[in-house]
Amino acid sequence: MSDATLHTEVLVLGGGPGGYTAAFRAADLGKQVTLVERYPVLGGVCLNVGCIPSKALLHMAQLIHEAEEVQDHGLSFGKPEIDIDKIRAWKESVSKSLNTGLSGLAKQRKVTVVQGAGRFTAPNTVAVETPEGAKTITFDQAIIAAGSSPTQIPSFPNDDERLWNSTDALELKQIPKKLLIVGGGIIGLEMATVYHAFGSEIHVVELMDQIIPGCDKDLVTPLLRRIKKQYKNIWLETRVAAIEPQNDGLKVSFEGKGAPESELFDAVLVAVGRRPNGKLIGAEAAGITVNEQGFIPVDKQQRTNVPHIFAIGDIVGNPMLAHKATHEGKVAAEVAAGHKAGFDALTIPSVAYTDPEIAWMGLSESQAKQQGIDYNKAVFPWAASGRSLSLGRKEGVTKIVCDKATGRILGAGMVGPNAGELIAEAVLALEMGADADDISLTIHPHPTLSETFGFAAEMINGTITDLYVKKS
Ligand code: NAD
Repeated sequence: MSDATLHTEVLVLGGGPGGYTAAFRAADLGKQVTLVERYPVLGGVCLNVGCIPSKALLHMAQLIHEAEEVQDHGLSFGKPEIDIDKIRAWKESVSKSLNTGLSGLAKQRKVTVVQGAGRFTAPNTVAVETPEGAKTITFDQAIIAAGSSPTQIPSFPNDDERLWNSTDALELKQIPKKLLIVGGGIIGLEMATVYHAFGSEIHVVELMDQIIPGCDKDLVTPLLRRIKKQYKNIWLETRVAAIEPQNDGLKVSFEGKGAPESELFDAVLVAVGRRPNGKLIGAEAAGITVNEQGFIPVDKQQRTNVPHIFAIGDIVGNPMLAHKATHEGKVAAEVAAGHKAGFDALTIPSVAYTDPEIAWMGLSESQAKQQGIDYNKAVFPWAASGRSLSLGRKEGVTKIVCDKATGRILGAGMVGPNAGELIAEAVLALEMGADADDISLTIHPHPTLSETFGFAAEMINGTITDLYVKKS
């Protein structure tokens, strides 16, 4: 076999969190694995231009806000000096150390990494455009983990460098004076948090009647109240009709509630969702079904309609979250290695790393209502949590939704600092079939924010002493 041709037992297409997890798990189960990744580094969108760099910048934003707010409590630092080049370098160093770690993990497992964009050319063949020329890889089984791309709005001037997608926003090339964010979802609001802290005047435009539309309104309200004070405008039920490049900015025209007819911005971030890359990988040459939107349908074992080809992550469906992709990656690798595995997780938690953070899992209250489920709910206000008050924050809440008949947890959500860390306990409770008694009889350390989850369960079973709840 020439250098340009390679055979592998398991080919993984895409080196993001789903892809590298699938490759490593398959290798650990004794498979000979080749991982094809178009970029020179592993980690995909999440590690290079998504979750990780955004968290590094959000940490900076948090420090700036905390330093500002603590002045009221007697501690003053003065105005922060923002060295944008140094911050960018630091953010990049965080991703780089994870890239290095991943390439070490691949080497330790003898996973062959081929750099280049891969496309199927037949049911057992992928062609890869590598920097050294074309390569053909034949495989026994394949796992597609080729992810998604930011949705573009075709009528917008997509070649103007003042019009950003999330990758551009994370590059931190400049801090625009006036930034419009199109889309009040997770990416839009996380980037709003960052750029507001760095000094931009923020305007948000959202099509629906609430920000973060998939989340219960009462969990979003504390965030909305806070950012309404910080941001110049949050226009709901409004769409951008047109964007016109001008010398002194982008002229944006709006249609909808309360927004002006048009306004000039120094930069516009479009964060209106992501599209699966299903139509970009030559799937038809392998006979793989790809639907209208570009998703690849799979069964519970992550198998596509072609039995020796699996697919995982953003390319198989929503929610487009790294932790869903890694879980599916393990399932696909285990099934490829002959194990009896399947995707049967009860929930995939969601976190918006805004300030305050919002996290939710399981059945939302609105879903419970829609489905006619008989439920009990409790909402514990963090204003009654000593730990929250000691952080200078009192807007948070922890909500729990339990089955009325059995008391079993159906769903939960939190809003407040560190909510993203706290939700894991609720996920475990759901997976273990815990009821309100199990949760409230679990001793939570005091004083912590985690107590609020125990308190919410105590509100369900009527044993709460940290609040006075009038008996009906
Ligand atoms: P999203 O779906 O979370 O939000 C997009 C928002 O844009 C929605 O609120 C939608 O109603 C709105 N919208 C759509 N079209 C619009 C228009 N023309 N004008 C105004 N508003 C419009 O998508 P996203 O924020 O772009 O994120 C993409 C994906 O990445 C999501 O699946 C998200 O879950 C994931 N992601 C997750 C995290 C995290 O877990 N913390 C962080 C970033 C991204």
